[in-house]
Amino acid sequence: MLDLQADRVMSLTEWENRWQENQIGFHQPTVHTMLKTHLEKVLSGRTGVRFFFPLCGKAVDMKWLADLGHIVVGVEISEKAIRQFFEENNMTFVEEPVSSIPGAKLFKNLEKNISLYKCDLFSFSSSVGGQFGAIWDRGSLVAINPKDRKRYAALIMSLMGSDCSYLLDTLLYNPELYKGPPFFVPDVEVHNLFGSSCDLELLQSVDALTDRTRAWGLDSLTEKVHLITLKAEDNSHS
Ligand code: SAH
Repeated sequence: MLDLQADRVMSLTEWENRWQENQIGFHQPTVHTMLKTHLEKVLSGRTGVRFFFPLCGKAVDMKWLADLGHIVVGVEISEKAIRQFFEENNMTFVEEPVSSIPGAKLFKNLEKNISLYKCDLFSFSSSVGGQFGAIWDRGSLVAINPKDRKRYAALIMSLMGSDCSYLLDTLLYNPELYKGPPFFVPDVEVHNLFGSSCDLELLQSVDALTDRTRAWGLDSLTEKVHLITLKAEDNSHS
């Protein structure tokens, strides 16, 4: 089944074009229910946590967490998405180059502690953004080209501080019916990518079939959320 989508590639230009043409059906106007449901577990009592949003789009979850006093760092290739995020949430921002990543720009709202990098995720690293206490991965692993997943997992793990709670949202459906993105990511794939260095816990699994996803040709769709933490013996490296 995995091989059905293994060679599918979306280029960065194609993603930017989707934003230009407003083909952004993945964007949700309200805070993601699964993030809300599991936030307490992710925080486990911590305040002012540094949250990373890989492939952030203009997710309103970023504002919600910042309003709760957390620090938010996102990465997104579409400058239009980043500008819309700040404009739609009535936030001012400053814009600056990122000396270590050619062509990248950093958009920051200072009072809310939100920093969004306009660049390819694969140019980002802990030397640019430091490490994080939490990661919210919705529409990110499922949007990355399947051939880049190992590289993606290695990058994500390098961004995890020793106490990091990585909340990962995956989708399951029959890949014979739809080519993606979003791509289907079965649990075995999550285990292959993260299982050797991390402990994995499946927190929730819900039926997520909607009119929108039925229109893709799907007959079933399951959305799962996993909590991923570094195994204790790996903590010494971070
Ligand atoms: N997480 C967001 C967006 C999901 S869609 C949400 O839940 O709404 C995936 C997003 O990743 C798109 O906005 C796309 O422009 C961006 N993207 C895709 N590949 C990227 C890459 N390699 N680096 C940075 N951004 C990327």
